[in-house]
Amino acid sequence: MKKEIVREDRAEDPQEVRSVEDRIIKEERLIKDEEARSVFNKVFDRATLTSVYELARKKFFEEVEFIISTGKEGNVFRCHGGDNYYALKIFKVSTSEFRHMQNYIIGDERFKDIRKDKLEIIKLWTKKEFRNLEEFSKAKIRAPLPIASNRNCLLMEFIGKDGIPAPRAKDKPFEEPEMQYHILCDYMAKMVNARLIHADLSEYNILNNDEELVIIDVGQAVTTMHPNAKEFFERDVLNLSKYFAKQGVDTDYDKMYAEIKKLSGNMKTAFEKTQKKKKYKRFCELG
Ligand code: ATP
Ligand code: MN
Repeated sequence: MKKEIVREDRAEDPQEVRSVEDRIIKEERLIKDEEARSVFNKVFDRATLTSVYELARKKFFEEVEFIISTGKEGNVFRCHGGDNYYALKIFKVSTSEFRHMQNYIIGDERFKDIRKDKLEIIKLWTKKEFRNLEEFSKAKIRAPLPIASNRNCLLMEFIGKDGIPAPRAKDKPFEEPEMQYHILCDYMAKMVNARLIHADLSEYNILNNDEELVIIDVGQAVTTMHPNAKEFFERDVLNLSKYFAKQGVDTDYDKMYAEIKKLSGNMKTAFEKTQKKKKYKRFCELG
């Protein structure tokens, strides 16, 4: 399932870009569905189209089929190749959300040397989500497996059954919320132990894949060194404790926090290296 991991930033030679685009339009093979093709051509710039074409050329997938989700920051498409489906997340380069992205990149020690130009931020964001997906999987937290990333395109495991994308926990609550709640606490404890904080965890970013809990949308996840790591973590716990309490689970913020702490066994030391706000401020000014 998981193919070789590719990370690259291709130079954007305009002539090459054009010829690739011509190929895409002429062949009409990559995007067969007319509606999807029209959205693609309207929404994405040439370099993005090239980027998608590159991933296809490397045989990660054969066809972009339809849009699963249109969001502020990007669109997610279902792709297929051979007998497999894939999810392709394409971040909008023209997004106005990149200021918000900066807050999660600056302060993350894994991404220290960045140029703050818009395209660079988007590219970095794509890489960051890829890397976070790798780290989630490594820590045995169920999240889509990353397959490839290129510029502003992220190809990952498709979460769904029989080609139908899994609904969000918000739209399809779990049949056994109590059990899923404990699974989630276990994942959150694993995150703490792996020094990872999701930072946007809620029923909107959890998929119910035929009663399997899958965490998605990890672009903004930071390490526990981030100055706001504790605050982000607490917000995640608050969101999810509220959601599961609504589903009938006997929990609240304190109970959920205590359960994660117990499962982790390491909560105190996990946040020990969190940077000080003052130092962070200076860091931002310099960066
Ligand atoms: P939004 O602003 O809508 O939250 P986003 O930019 O935060 O968008 P995601 O939350 O990662 O992006 O994905 C948006 C939607 O696309 C998800 O709610 C889910 O329905 C779908 N989706 C994302 N990744 C996958 C995947 N790997 N498999 C199936 N569906 C997915
Ligand atoms: Mn989301």
